[in-house]
Amino acid sequence: MLAVLRTATRRSMAMSFTTSTVDGFTGAVGNTPLIYLKGLSERTGCKILGKAEFQNPGGSVKDRAALGVVTDAEQKGRIRPGGTVVEGTAGNTGIGLAHVCRAKGYNCVIYMPDTQSQEKIDLLRMLGADVRPVPAVPYENPKNYNHQARDFALTLENAIWTDQFDNTANAHAHYVSTGPEIWEQTQGKVDGFICATGTGGTLAGVGKYLKEKSGGKTKIWLADPPGSVLYSYISSGGKLNERSGSSITEGIGQGRITNNLGTFVKDVDGALHITDEKSIAMVYEMLDSEGLYIGASSALNVVAAYEMAQTLGPGNTVVTILCDGAYRYQSRLFSKKWLKSKGLDGALPDRLKKYAVL
Ligand code: PMP
Repeated sequence: MLAVLRTATRRSMAMSFTTSTVDGFTGAVGNTPLIYLKGLSERTGCKILGKAEFQNPGGSVKDRAALGVVTDAEQKGRIRPGGTVVEGTAGNTGIGLAHVCRAKGYNCVIYMPDTQSQEKIDLLRMLGADVRPVPAVPYENPKNYNHQARDFALTLENAIWTDQFDNTANAHAHYVSTGPEIWEQTQGKVDGFICATGTGGTLAGVGKYLKEKSGGKTKIWLADPPGSVLYSYISSGGKLNERSGSSITEGIGQGRITNNLGTFVKDVDGALHITDEKSIAMVYEMLDSEGLYIGASSALNVVAAYEMAQTLGPGNTVVTILCDGAYRYQSRLFSKKWLKSKGLDGALPDRLKKYAVL
């Protein structure tokens, strides 16, 4: 018996080795595992699966979009060797672009609001980016960091503004990679897909692919944090409210229909509004029950997948995105003082409070 077990263990370990190599940073983007979330699956009688995007080499789902927009510009002849990539971003897109630029030999210039943490600025600089913090003013103001990025790119020869919100090469990257991977990993048995949106690239790219492959059968839902207008837009049948309120989740929430979300928004079958209380509790729950150290947008997605599974009913398979790890946010998410300052200290059940060690 023991011998049989040993052989089985050895075989399963051996099978987990990959026999192929990949070509540098860019070759390592994508092909992330789909993680079965046991506790929530058992509670709902569904299969709830999280796409482990934190395993991308730059640490987030945005590595795919960063590679997609740069590759698209190369293919269209908009950038040549030695050129400069410019973007306005405070987060994962900048990190992904900085990596891709190093790997491909481009300069990288990142504009960001001067309210961002020193850690983010330091990381981007360590990755070789020229970081330009500018006053944090609203999008309508021409001095907003996005507009400054666009304007600066226009002053350079052989440079692009990657324009993550409205450049549809972003959604296309998910249409040709994330979507097909999910379809293959579930062998086409994917009844629901749900995630939150920042640019809308992930939801629209994956959603469009799954809708096409399933002949419209896969339900695509959008999950929205407080302070975003998309939940009310979808549930009201197209009424765009003014943006108000805020959320602890970073990288998601939107005040408009970006080009990346574009016409796909009409094909979205439903939307859920997820509170910060539920998201923060799920950050801790995933750590406690699954050993997964995920950021708040990923936790929001898991809450949403759980609620979607409850609505679809037992026997269904629901997939969501684990966008990045908690490492980039840990000084906040695991700080008792920070939780209190956000009024979230009561959101955690007593059994999970032990993880708030900072
Ligand atoms: N989660 C995190 C942590 C992000 O940085 C982003 C990108 N802004 C998203 C989710 C949303 O992805 P998308 O831009 O494809 O909508």
